[in-house]
Amino acid sequence: MVTVIEWVNPGEDEIIWRYPNEVITWGSQLIVHEYEVAVFMRDGKIYDVLGPGRHTLTTQNLPLLYKLVGGSNSPFKATIIFVSMKQFQGRYGGETQTRELAPIKYYGVYWFKVADPVLFITEVVGGQSLYDANDVTRFIRAYFNEGMMKHLSTYSIVDLFQNLDMVSTQVKVKLIEDFRRLGLELVDVKIEGVNTTDEWRQRLFWIMQTGNAQYVMQMDTTKQVAAELGKSSGAAMGTGMVLIPQLMQPPAQPAQPYAGAGVPPAQPQQPAAPAAQQQEICPYCGKPLPPGARFCPYCGHQIHRCPNGHVVPEGAKFCPICGAKLE
Ligand SMILES: [Zn+2]
Ligand SMILES: [Zn+2]
Repeated sequence: MVTVIEWVNPGEDEIIWRYPNEVITWGSQLIVHEYEVAVFMRDGKIYDVLGPGRHTLTTQNLPLLYKLVGGSNSPFKATIIFVSMKQFQGRYGGETQTRELAPIKYYGVYWFKVADPVLFITEVVGGQSLYDANDVTRFIRAYFNEGMMKHLSTYSIVDLFQNLDMVSTQVKVKLIEDFRRLGLELVDVKIEGVNTTDEWRQRLFWIMQTGNAQYVMQMDTTKQVAAELGKSSGAAMGTGMVLIPQLMQPPAQPAQPYAGAGVPPAQPQQPAAPAAQQQEICPYCGKPLPPGARFCPYCGHQIHRCPNGHVVPEGAKFCPICGAKLE
C-alpha cells in the first residue's frame, strides 16, 4: 500500500500545512496541487522543494535529503510543509501617533502572497517556529501593522487628512520592501480610513485655516485659537490676518536667472494668480466639504458658517477668515 502525501482541502485562509507524519518512506506518492509547493525540512534546515505535480519520492527528486540520509531504502525523518502560493487578503487596523503626536486610528485591507517559499519558510515558519496556519496569519498581520504604525508616524496630521493618497502610495512602497524581506509579495494595500480625536480634528481645522501649525499647537485648546484669532473684531482681523495669508498666497515664483546671449526670451510678467479657492474642510472629521455644504456628507455634522459663508468651528466668536462677528 503506497502512502499518499497530500494537502487535502486547504482552508481559504491557510497559508501553510505541515504533514503530520515525519517518517517518510521512499516510493510514497506526493501530490502537490496548483498554487502549492512542498518543502522538505529536517532539523530546521530546508532541503528539497517540489512544485505542483504527482511525485513518487525517489532519491532523484529529493537529491539533497538523499545525500543526508543515505541510499538505504529504510524510512527517513523529514518535515514536509506545504505552502500555498495563492493570494490572500488581510484586514488591518491600529493606532499610532503622527509626527506632532496626534493620536491616529487607521484601518484598511491588504493583499499578499508568498513569492519566495524558501525565504518565507526560513524567516517566518522556521524562524518563528510557526507551524500552524493561524499563527502564521497572525504573525503576518502583526508584522504588517507594525510597519504601518512605524511608517505612518513619520507624517504630519495635515498630510494624513489632506494628502492621504500620497501617504498611501509612499507607505505602500515601504511596506512592500518590508514584506519582501519575509519572502512575501505585498500585492496591494488600501487605507480605508484614518481618524483622530475631536480635539485634534478641531486643531486640524485651525491648522488648515491659519496655515500655521506651530501657532495652533502652542495653544492649549482650539477654543483658545478661536479666541486669539477673533480678538480684534471689525474690518481688519489683527492677529488672524497675520497668520492666515500663508495658505491664501500663491507660492512665490523663483526668479529665472537669465544666462543666454542675445534677446532674453519674452517672459510676460506673470500676474499674481488669484489665490486658488481654498478647499473647505469639515471641522469635525477633516474631510473635504462640497461648496456651500450645510452638513458634512462624511460625518453628518452641521456646518456653521459666518455671514460671508466661511466655515467656522463651533464656539468661535469671530470668523477666522473675514473677522465677521458670530452670533
Ligand atoms: Zn465631517
Ligand atoms: Zn467669514
